[in-house]
Amino acid sequence: MEQQDNLITSEFITCENCNAQVVSTVKFCNSCSFPVAGSEDDKRSFRLSIGSKKRQVKDAEEKIKTCKTIIYILAGLLFISGLVVGFAQDDYASMIVNLCISLLYLILAAWSEKNPFGAILTAFIIYVTLILINFIVEPATLFSGLLFKILFIGAFVKGVRSAKEAKDILVELEKTKSL
Ligand SMILES: [Zn+2]
Repeated sequence: MEQQDNLITSEFITCENCNAQVVSTVKFCNSCSFPVAGSEDDKRSFRLSIGSKKRQVKDAEEKIKTCKTIIYILAGLLFISGLVVGFAQDDYASMIVNLCISLLYLILAAWSEKNPFGAILTAFIIYVTLILINFIVEPATLFSGLLFKILFIGAFVKGVRSAKEAKDILVELEKTKSL
């Protein structure tokens, strides 16, 4: 009986990465892909790759955060300009449009917590569409705040790319049980 117990335990080893019990004959942990039978170098490069993925996610999260701030700024600007056109110029139709878009930006900023990619991409599309509409209606508007427009568009492009990247890396990290 004792011998049988030994036999059973000797067939399993504990994965150093995720503590799963894995059959000692396999090369990789079937739960997290850690090279259980690999050399120290293999194990180190596995850990390094996870470390660098985590850093990439952190960088991506910074860019996502910048976009979120921009979306809040846009919501604020539209809110203020809505009030100005409404009460200073009696243009209530424009006021309502501005306030609605401002609200939409607020919703997108909140949604970016859950789905940064979808929220930032949507906000970006709305932003560019509004610039285009304004340009068609009044070409001169393109040049007002042009520097900010360029900065915001740059941040949006980075944000969309980072959100996509972070999403993919998080899936990989999930697979390696490293979250
Ligand atoms: Zn494992």
